[in-house]
Amino acid sequence: MAELFYDDDADLSLIQSKKVAVVGYGSQGHAHALSLRDSGVDVTVGLREGSSSRAKAEEQGLAVASVADAVKGADLVVILAPDQVQRTLYAEDIAPNLKSDATLLFAHGFNIRFGYIKPEAGHDVVMVAPKGPGHLVRREYEAGRGVPVIVAVEQDASGQAWDVALSYAKAIGGLRAAGIKTTFTEETETDLFGEQTVLCGGVSQLIQYGFETLTEAGYQPEVAYFEVLHELKLIVDLIYEGGIAKQRWSVSDTAEYGDYVSGPRVITPQVKENMKAVLGDIQSGAFAERFINDQDAGGPEFKELRAKGEAHPIEATGRELRKLFAWVETTDADYTEGSA
Ligand code: NAD
Ligand code: MG
Ligand code: MG
Ligand code: MG
Ligand code: MG
Repeated sequence: MAELFYDDDADLSLIQSKKVAVVGYGSQGHAHALSLRDSGVDVTVGLREGSSSRAKAEEQGLAVASVADAVKGADLVVILAPDQVQRTLYAEDIAPNLKSDATLLFAHGFNIRFGYIKPEAGHDVVMVAPKGPGHLVRREYEAGRGVPVIVAVEQDASGQAWDVALSYAKAIGGLRAAGIKTTFTEETETDLFGEQTVLCGGVSQLIQYGFETLTEAGYQPEVAYFEVLHELKLIVDLIYEGGIAKQRWSVSDTAEYGDYVSGPRVITPQVKENMKAVLGDIQSGAFAERFINDQDAGGPEFKELRAKGEAHPIEATGRELRKLFAWVETTDADYTEGSA
């Protein structure tokens, strides 16, 4: 059974006595910085010159500085820039300005687990990773609740790393729900595995194959879209509320029986072998190396794969159909090709 921590297990005054620099003001960065501030913590947001986030952070009443200046005075530096830029950001702007005993805090273990950032021995290295997107983290905090967090300590130079990590987790509302103890290795490997095989990679491929099978058999794309993509949300909501069991209870007996007899025909034991191979590439660092090498080269493979995904016929069908959904606030303009 995992070890759990709650508000009573943490001392808020520990983080309140520190100067904190939050580097990055995206999904996680804005949520951490605002909730720390509202919990009485001295926060400065560190951003690149010319960052479009600067105005947003200032509008919210936060102190903003360059990454170097924010890091200079900080007792704790929170690294919430995208994973692929953290290594360079650390080498160029963070490490040269870091107090020798400053704590480093991450929300994902990628750069530590795969050795792209190697902090010197004097630093505590901890993780507080909310199990939800930043906007939910902030909304729950404001509602007096919290999103569960996972907490880990990679390096404990001060002997206080756990106490500080838990104090931080409390300040962003995480321990109102629960903190779950893990390690950088477990968090990083399971996070990458989940998104690659099931949540993002697995589900996207499954939807595309379902759509292709129906349209190649002559069914209308609009009808196929509803059956293999749109209705997924209804199914996922049931799974989220009560597991696979609740989903099976809620659907018709016809659907439930079809699940039992056809699910294993589609997702065969070979798929599990494929998953093991993916896990192997995660554990060996081969995936990380491929991702970072491509990013360092300007992301040619990444861009090509993204363009290929956007060109899949299901996307054009979806754009047209979503115009008919008065109840879905369409955000197509935010992420379709050609937008900023
Ligand atoms: P994001 O892409 O939403 O935001 C990153 C921010 O970093 C940008 O808004 C910008 O302010 C800043 N930034 C970008 N490039 C920079 C650069 N070169 N130098 C300095 N600052 C730069 O990122 P995110 O999704 O909030 O992810 C941040 C960290 O949190 C990652 O380690 C990620 O794995 C982790 N995480 C994210 C989520 C999530 O739901 N998004 C959940 C848990 C953990
Ligand atoms: Mg995850
Ligand atoms: Mg992830
Ligand atoms: Mg149906
Ligand atoms: Mg039923």
